[in-house]
Parts: sequence; C-alpha cells; structure tokens
Amino acid sequence: MAKYIFVTGGVSSSLGKGIIAASLAKLLQARGLKVTIQKFDPYINIDPGTMNPYEHGECYVTEDGAETDLDLGHYERFLNIFTSQANNVTTGRIYQTVINKEREGAYLGKTVQVVPHITDEIKKRMLLLGKNNEYDIVITEIGGTVGDIESLPFVEAVRQLQWELPEEDTLIIHLTLIPFLKAAKELKTKPTQHSVKMLSQEGVKPDIIVCRTEKELTPEIRRKIALFCNVKMEAVIEAKDAPTIYEVPLLMRREKLDIISMKKLQLEHTAEPDLTKWKEFLDKLKYPKYRVTIGLIGKYLELQDAYKSILESFIHAGAMNECQVQIINIHSEYITEANVAEKLSELDGLLVAPGFGHRGVEGKIVAVKYARENGLPFFGICLGMQMAAIEFARNVLGLKDAHSTEMNPHTSDPVIDLMEEQTSVTHKGGTMRLGSYACTIKDNTLAKSIYGKNAITERHRHRWEFNNAYLQKFEEAGMMASGKNPQNNLVEIIELSGHPFFIGVQYHPELKSTVENPHPIFVHFVKAAKEYGEHKAEHKNQVRKKAMDETQM
Ligand code: GLN
Repeated sequence: MAKYIFVTGGVSSSLGKGIIAASLAKLLQARGLKVTIQKFDPYINIDPGTMNPYEHGECYVTEDGAETDLDLGHYERFLNIFTSQANNVTTGRIYQTVINKEREGAYLGKTVQVVPHITDEIKKRMLLLGKNNEYDIVITEIGGTVGDIESLPFVEAVRQLQWELPEEDTLIIHLTLIPFLKAAKELKTKPTQHSVKMLSQEGVKPDIIVCRTEKELTPEIRRKIALFCNVKMEAVIEAKDAPTIYEVPLLMRREKLDIISMKKLQLEHTAEPDLTKWKEFLDKLKYPKYRVTIGLIGKYLELQDAYKSILESFIHAGAMNECQVQIINIHSEYITEANVAEKLSELDGLLVAPGFGHRGVEGKIVAVKYARENGLPFFGICLGMQMAAIEFARNVLGLKDAHSTEMNPHTSDPVIDLMEEQTSVTHKGGTMRLGSYACTIKDNTLAKSIYGKNAITERHRHRWEFNNAYLQKFEEAGMMASGKNPQNNLVEIIELSGHPFFIGVQYHPELKSTVENPHPIFVHFVKAAKEYGEHKAEHKNQVRKKAMDETQM
C-alpha cells in the first residue's frame, strides 16, 4: 500500500505548490522511494486543452496524449518520470464520470449528491495511482487556494481520507505566504493563521506548514506559526524565494522537509538522499562559462508560463553546455522585412514557438527567412516548423501564395494542410493529434547526429501537417524530411542542407527535457548558437582590426 501526501495552498495563488511538491518528491525519490505526483484542479473544464495560454499558461501533454496542467511538466522535469492522464484530474472530469454513471443507472434509486458521490469519485482517483504497488508515495497537489468555493469537495475528500486511512499513511502539507510589511519591517503570520483556521474549519489539520517568504523566518516567527497553527516547531518549514526553482529541493533538504514527512509517515530512515547529479547540474547552471542569446519568437510573450517547457529546456540544455542562455522575447506581430535585421542581429540563435491561429504568422515567416539566409541557427517547433516550410515554399520554391490552410483555407499552395481524419472533427476538446508517436530518422542528417539513433518517439499537439504532395519539390531544392512517422509517412522533421543548423520539428521536444536528460535538440541548438556567437565575435574583431589598420595606414 502506498502512502499519501496532500499539498494544499493558502493565502494566495501562485506560491509554487507544484515546485514544493516536486521538490519533496525529488528528495524522497533520491532516498530510493518510488514516488509520483498528481494534480487535482478545481475548474470545470475537462482539461486545460481548450484554454488559451493567458488563462492557464502552457498546456502540457503527456505520453498518453492527455492535455494537462503545466505543473505536470515540473513533476516530469524534476523526477525524470512520465506522468499520464491519471496524474491530472479536474472537477469537470469528476462530474463527467459521475453524470455518465448516473445515466447508465449506476446509482439507480438514489439522489446523486456532492457528498458522497462526487467526493467518492475524487477519493477513488486520489488513491488510484497507489493501488498497484507501483509507488511507495503518491503526492497529490490540490489546485487553487483553501477557502475557494470550487476546491471544497477536494478538501472534503482529503478530510475523509485522513480519517479513513491509518494515521501513518497520510500527510497534509499546507503552503502559505508570510508577507513582509516594509513599513513595519516585519514578517506577518496572521494570513497564515487565518488560512490554517479555514482549513481546520473544513476539517483538515495540516501536519506541516511550508512558508513562502522573502526574508528568513526568525525562531520567534517559527514559534508563533507553530503555536497558532497547531504544529510542532520542526514542522514549520521556511521556503525562502530562490534564484532558481532547481534550488528548491536543496532548500527543502536543509529545512528537513523530507525527514519530517517520513517521520509522520513512519517510513524507515533510509540512506541520505543521493543528489549528486542534481548538484552537478545546479553547479553548471550557477557558474556558466559562456553565454548565448536566443530569440524566442512567439505571441504570448507577456506571460512567462505560456512557453514554460521551452524555457526550462533551455535551462537544462544551457547547463549541459556550461552556457547561460539569455532569452530575448520577440513579438512576431512586430517583425517586418524592414526591421528584421535590426531586431535579430544580436541573436546567436532563433526559436520560432508553437502556436495557433493567424495572428503574428507573417512576422514569424520573415524571421525564418532571415535565419535561413544569414546562417543563424534556427529551431522551429510545431507551428515554428510549419512556418519554416511556408517560408521555403514562398521564397525558394517561388510559390508566393503558399500557406497553411489553418490561416488561409483558400491558398492555392497548401504546403501545410489538415490530415484527412481531422477534416471531419467538430469537437475542440482532446481531438488534436496528441501524445507520443514514433518517428524514423534518416542517416546522414542533422537529426541523426543530434539523436544518435534512427528510432525515436516524441509528443505531439497539433492538427495540421506538412503536405506530402510538395515533399519532392522541397527535397530537390535542399529542404529535406529527415524524420518521418513510420506508420503514415507524415513529415516530423525538416532540415536545410548547407546551413549550419536549421531544423523544424512537428512535435514538441520541450515536453521531454528533464534535469537528468536534457533534450538533445535543445542541447545541440545551444551548442550551435555558442559556435555561431563565437564566430560572430571573431568576425566583428576582424572587421574592427581591419578598420583600425586602415586608419593607421
Ligand atoms: N496550429 C498548428 C496546428 O494545429 C500548430 C500547433 C502547435 O504549434 N502546437 O497544427
């Protein structure tokens, strides 16, 4: 039987429950325990797949094709494990199951109610991953903030489980904020007291209070929190703002979050956590030897969370190259032929991001053209790959009207088109090409040198595809399909010959980059950018030297 840890949040949203949960999971995993994490989200959407990034940040896709909360990305990146549909449950999904059961007659004769029917379904799913001896510990993060109307049934389910399961099989961690009032020069515990009180009124007593804070907690503050929140002093954990999320497992280790958790769960004190690899990564991250500047061309740039996995992949790949990767966000809507050189001239590499809809695509195409013509390392992901194909069709093949039918349904040259099976799809939720698919890589290609093998699998999230009717023309002109789906021949990777680094992928490699396994395309892209940057600096020096020599003559 697995043991269950629940993580709730109070006072404010965005305190980083996901990172705290993932950090604890990392520490327990590093002690040799088998750990998984799941997220329960109180909103009514079945999944975040239908929300735009401004609502919800990035939509993270799992191997089995579930569109999930971006915290699952943190879980995978920290733990180097795969999650699945079962790891992300929403109120919508719970209700859908209960209502379907009601229609089937499963509750015949009964009134179907929040308690017990909804809460029973929640409990069933909370326990599910712990059922088949696969894990020693299942950590459940409850989305939202305690006191929200919509999270009530989840908190009630936790209350019931805390009561039903043996004392040593559950642990409740409550994450709160200890604000620092500048005027009073004081940390304030009152909001935390209130939030724990609210949680207690809902019947749940936290075992550990994790306190997000800008300043160190004094012993006096710790004592106060312990006293008023009814926990032991040692169970008050300081979570001070960290320079990087990857530092948090070490901070939690210093605060003994893992030891206190294991004590309550009556788990034997195993060997000290082995964090050698993690620390090596962190050292490289903190003390880089080089620096590259990558332009991220997208349209949701105001919101960091929209491209979360891409940004994290650059952190992993940067550390691998001992390189600090500076990301410059460039709004595709503002790129034109007239300003592209000025906007992109300082870059060492260009990444065109995934996306949907027509807004900003012309700017992306202009940016790709600049990268192609100037030997600037280029990496296109999903829509970014599609833009690279359109640019090539228009400016190399001379197909001036070339487009994707997503943006122009009447184009005379649909180089990116809908798959046959997508043409009849009317429902938006969960109907894209989603999850892991196989791809076969050709020999003697950039893709092969990156992956070092021919058979790979990568995760997808899109409807449109490269139109194979144009492939021969593309390949004759120098853009080849270096990776294809072995079942249906769909083009998954395109690359340009005669360019130092130009690759577009129809899938999302950023979803599989982890601290321990940085994604090879990101690693090679950063390397290519580093080389390009060094070359650029050398070239600039030569020009400067030549100019100086000429003036001295
Ligand atoms: N909008 C494009 C499609 O659906 C690309 C999607 C993406 O970039 N994730 O095919």
